[in-house]
Amino acid sequence: MKKCFSTLIILIISLPIFGQNYWQQEAHYKMDVDFDATHHQFEGLQNLTYINHSPDTLTQVFYHLYFNAFQPGSMMDVRSKTIIDSDRRVGNRISKLKPTQIGLQEIWSLEQNGVFLDFEINETILEVSLAESILPNDTVEFRMKYKTQVPIQIRRSGRMNSEGIDYSMSQWYPKLCEYDKDGWHANPYVGREFYGIWGSFDVTIHMDSKYTIAATGVLQNPDEIGHGYSELTLDTIPTKLSWNFKAEKVHDFVWAADPDYTHEIIQNDNGPNFHLFYQQGEKTKHWKDLGKYMIRTFEYANKHFGEYPYPHYSIIQGGDGGMEYPMATLITGHRSLKSLVGVSVHEAMHSWYHGLLATNEALYAWMDEGFTSYASNRIEYEFFPEDFPGIHEGSYKSYKRIANSHYEEPLCTHADHFDTNWAYGVASYSKGVVILDQLSYIVGDEVVERSLKRYFDEWAYKHPDARDFKRIVEKESNMELDWYFEYFVNSTKTIDYGIHEINKKENGTLITLKKGEMPMPVEFEIEMNDGRLSNYYIPTVLMRGEKEVESGTKILEDWPWTNTHYSINIDHKPSEIKVIRLHNTGQIADVEPLNDNVTVPRKWNWDKHKLKLQILEKKKKKGIQKTMKMKKVAL
Ligand SMILES: [Zn+2]
Repeated sequence: MKKCFSTLIILIISLPIFGQNYWQQEAHYKMDVDFDATHHQFEGLQNLTYINHSPDTLTQVFYHLYFNAFQPGSMMDVRSKTIIDSDRRVGNRISKLKPTQIGLQEIWSLEQNGVFLDFEINETILEVSLAESILPNDTVEFRMKYKTQVPIQIRRSGRMNSEGIDYSMSQWYPKLCEYDKDGWHANPYVGREFYGIWGSFDVTIHMDSKYTIAATGVLQNPDEIGHGYSELTLDTIPTKLSWNFKAEKVHDFVWAADPDYTHEIIQNDNGPNFHLFYQQGEKTKHWKDLGKYMIRTFEYANKHFGEYPYPHYSIIQGGDGGMEYPMATLITGHRSLKSLVGVSVHEAMHSWYHGLLATNEALYAWMDEGFTSYASNRIEYEFFPEDFPGIHEGSYKSYKRIANSHYEEPLCTHADHFDTNWAYGVASYSKGVVILDQLSYIVGDEVVERSLKRYFDEWAYKHPDARDFKRIVEKESNMELDWYFEYFVNSTKTIDYGIHEINKKENGTLITLKKGEMPMPVEFEIEMNDGRLSNYYIPTVLMRGEKEVESGTKILEDWPWTNTHYSINIDHKPSEIKVIRLHNTGQIADVEPLNDNVTVPRKWNWDKHKLKLQILEKKKKKGIQKTMKMKKVAL
């Protein structure tokens, strides 16, 4: 206990000093795990030091018991069987688990400062009545004894994954729920997204000596157990080895174990070392090339998104796809080189947006998956430009597809509560990329670049939310951006600017644009018949500012958001204009491209007719086909 307390003092000093209004809770776990690999069970002892930095008095606490989700009839089971597009990895598999295959977390006892507590297990949440309220700034010691059965792997964690990794141990220990300015977050585990308390882990795992263990944190006793950096070979190998890992300034702890892991260490002079754990074989032959891509990934990310602070990063074969944890990832390993690099880059980039900028993912999945995908798209583009026609084009396409369907749900939907997995996936990944990339259209690339760095510098090791990110970009751009996030996060209203009509005027041409549901600044380009180009920029009045535009671009009057149409006078005759192109700089998720570009017809009697553009919808056998029509309207 004394030892634990001294670690604590160091951590309190080393955690950043927060502004007056910001606070967050603090948790330091010391855990001992005695693993029985024959029965896939373990007994755990958990000492948890919890510091209440909130201004509130806490009368109860909650723990996550994630493994209890893997039991027939659980909320996760019901959800998976009732959602219309169930995750194929789960399907109805939970309902078929036998007693020896289920996940089970039994709590034997729980003490608060030495006093035994009453508690109730409500499936994946442990509800605890405290013996004594925890006052603001109080520190309490919880001591828990528990027993766990590791389930057959269904989703993320469990035993015997599809590639034969024995144990993928994520969401494996009773984890105190986070309490923040919005109160408790005791979400039942039905599908996804996590949120943890900042602090430290000191974990000792006693396990059959045939296993190699990979984990969050730094192995403390390599010499003693003959693993890790150690060259030592033990004379007599005991039946069990005791692995001790420590991790500081993290909010979760993952580990994995397999008797056939190869452990490779890639030294990296300019950043963290990489630890690779995988089963060697034909299907994992590309792992030997992974190190050099990882070195470049962290180099790029350190430069553009903030400095990765931990001494190493582990890529561990395990899990059921790719999943991020502090200082580590579990990925499936039988992959082509591009797929292996792609998933590793994505998961590594989570170190920034999940590992260090630990938003509540359930509420702000787009700030985790979206920002991570944005960063990984940029890095993958550096590696394999041939696979990316545009860096984020895939994300724009995926967003537009759902925006034009009836399935889209707003980004502010809680991650577990989307009606479909499709809507969740697009909202958090694709629209999450778009919301960030599209900011460039409003504030400019350089401001976005500066904002990402400042966001990291000001909010790493905390729990930023959407407002915190918005304020950073507002400060960097000197613009008001609440409208952008209100529309794009809290609603499913779409952007659809279009060219409405072209009209001959005495001294030139009157071009009228129309607006869709959501206001945005508008950029467009006019190409003359002789090849000359003119660029125009219309800020939306809501921005209260303008981005820096290229010299020569004409900045027009603000577009009042209440106005459905906006007209511009051009000093050229309509017959001189060849094409008008909206959004010529790209980076805007305009959901209707048909009215964005117009080639002005050569044969048009401008003295008699103006040109009106109309989108026509024809019902065809296989769905609705849209076409654009140019209509003559008498002057
Ligand atoms: Zn991800």
